[in-house]
Amino acid sequence: MRERLFSLISKYNLKANSDLGQNFLVVPDIIERNVERAELNENDIVLEVGPGLGVLTDALSRHAGKVYAIEKDSRLVEILRAEYDWPNVEIIEGDALKVEFPAFNKIVSNLPYQISSPITFRFLRYDFERAVLIYQLEFARRMVAEPGDRNYSRLSLMVRAKAHAELVERIGRGAFWPKPKVDSAVIVLEPKPRDERIELNEDLVRALFQHRRSTVLAALKKSHHMLGLSKEDFKRVRGLLGAVPHAGKRVFQLSPLDVIDIELYLLENHLIRSSE
Ligand code: SAM
Repeated sequence: MRERLFSLISKYNLKANSDLGQNFLVVPDIIERNVERAELNENDIVLEVGPGLGVLTDALSRHAGKVYAIEKDSRLVEILRAEYDWPNVEIIEGDALKVEFPAFNKIVSNLPYQISSPITFRFLRYDFERAVLIYQLEFARRMVAEPGDRNYSRLSLMVRAKAHAELVERIGRGAFWPKPKVDSAVIVLEPKPRDERIELNEDLVRALFQHRRSTVLAALKKSHHMLGLSKEDFKRVRGLLGAVPHAGKRVFQLSPLDVIDIELYLLENHLIRSSE
């Protein structure tokens, strides 16, 4: 696998494009472990974002019924189409943040780190069974952080509202070509059952986490403009904010259900409008 990768790199005289997060996996064991973690069988339809030179795609094609691989770099798309003859892989040329996703039930990807955040939020809007994803270590740690943790962030809260996330393996930078400047980690993501998923008001979450170390009351006061309240509206209603649930908690200690309590109070008192 490693030989195949380097022979393609030299055959096509490829330079990795760092703007597209091109760090190719060169350790077969990691690929095998991730394919195992995805628990694939012939009924599975897998979405892969960023197949690169196809090392992970190749393993996926041997274990899943169908693989859709979305690649933005047209040169890599050309190479994949010329070099492989997978019967069950469809390469989709385009930006994974924009192209329409086909139906799928699993995701396995070594993600381009530049789009970690928006692609994760996009994944979470879909129904799927399980995702096995490689991220930058710091990002992965934020994904699994718990309320009150040092690195608990908007991302941690939003992921927690929709899914179970587990950091299952740390990967050193030597596992990639070219070597990135930071370590990586594997996250296994499983959406919660529909009736346990919590829909959060994203504007409210943004407004709160703009001041993650402040108390809820202070954060709401400082971010009132982000909630659509003009200065005059805010002056008129600021008295009501004093009784907001969890007023004295720090923003980085809030669970998704705490945020729902806050949202309901703000809605009942006409301090925000419903996000629907
Ligand atoms: N899967 C390969 C591997 O593990 O060796 C490559 C992974 S590399 C970290 C990320 C890949 O995502 C690159 O092939 C890059 O061109 C592609 N990419 C970057 N931005 C993208 C986007 N917005 N949509 C789809 N693919 C993208």
